[in-house]
Amino acid sequence: MKAYVVPERCISCGLCIGMCGSVFDFNEDGKSEAVGEVTNDNAEDAKAAARGCPTEAIIIE
Ligand code: SF4
Repeated sequence: MKAYVVPERCISCGLCIGMCGSVFDFNEDGKSEAVGEVTNDNAEDAKAAARGCPTEAIIIE
């Protein structure tokens, strides 16, 4: 399982980083980026962050 953030959709609200900081972090452009692996331990948090993203910028597949 892998997470991606579509940068054009990210509005830098920080929700995904707050919900799943082991996967998401801000990059140098101030957008969220999937920097960590999605594992069994954080997959539910990563999926919840994807559902909660206000602009549907997160793809998990
Ligand atoms: S929740 Fe969505 S809009 Fe907010 S920082 Fe994460 S990817 Fe960007």
